[in-house]
Amino acid sequence: MIEKLSGQELKQLLQKHGFGFSKSLGQNFLCDERILGMIADDAAIGPEDTVLEIGPGAGTLTRVMARRAKKVVAVEIDRTLLPVLAETLDGFNAEVINADFLQLDTDELYRLRLCPGFKLVANLPYYITTPIIMKLLESGLPYKSLTVLVQREVAQRMAAQPGTPEYGSLTCAVQYYCTARLQSRLPASCFFPPPKVESRVITLTRRDRPAVDVPDEKLFFDIMHAAFAMRRKTFANNLMTAFSLSRPDAMSLLERAGIDPGIRGEKLSAEDFARVCRCMCGT
Ligand code: SAM
Repeated sequence: MIEKLSGQELKQLLQKHGFGFSKSLGQNFLCDERILGMIADDAAIGPEDTVLEIGPGAGTLTRVMARRAKKVVAVEIDRTLLPVLAETLDGFNAEVINADFLQLDTDELYRLRLCPGFKLVANLPYYITTPIIMKLLESGLPYKSLTVLVQREVAQRMAAQPGTPEYGSLTCAVQYYCTARLQSRLPASCFFPPPKVESRVITLTRRDRPAVDVPDEKLFFDIMHAAFAMRRKTFANNLMTAFSLSRPDAMSLLERAGIDPGIRGEKLSAEDFARVCRCMCGT
């Protein structure tokens, strides 16, 4: 078991295994124990927790979490990291699965290896942040929280309020399923190699039930996506385009939903979209 792993020792280990960083896999690793501890604190990892990690890399965050948690299950796409992980995680309560998380059957993963209320923690590869988060949100899995390190702007979009420039369809989708809490900020210099962007931890805590009641979830999301399709257009114009509505029909719909016909989508809340959805369904 490797007890302590300095940045220098980790670099030597990676070199020993002939590991080369892949930009296309978003490989920007963390090594500083203090920073890794901050992420585990943000996720509030304790001895009862089962943790799912996406992209353990060289296993540095995995080790910090495994010391605090009941167990860690980590999904890593890059086969060349497996021998590195075998060394860094030797003696730790952590299991590595070699798979592409986006292709993985998460129901099966949950059934075989996780438990209700598991926590997800990840320093996400930036090139697929949104698809990974959407896959988790839409999975219906009974996670307690998702604590992810993402590009700062993406974190701000997830936690945004209506009427702000950051507010958009990602905000609405995230806040439909979860409450969002911005956490630690990490400058690019914390990573090796350093990315070109600043990063921020955000914790998404699963709501017991979605933020708003809708009769048709798909329609609700279609309305919400339509609202942000052309940000300079009014909500009415975007609705007309997306649902092939005549102007009088769009105006009548907005009137029934109690929405100002001249408003833009970015000013509307999830509850506003839900009212439009209910009116369209006639409920
Ligand atoms: N957790 C490590 C750390 O903090 O040092 C590494 C984080 S690095 C930003 C992202 C990791 O995700 C890399 O190890 C990369 O190989 C892995 N990865 C990229 N795409 C993935 C995918 N589709 N499924 C699983 N892992 C992936």
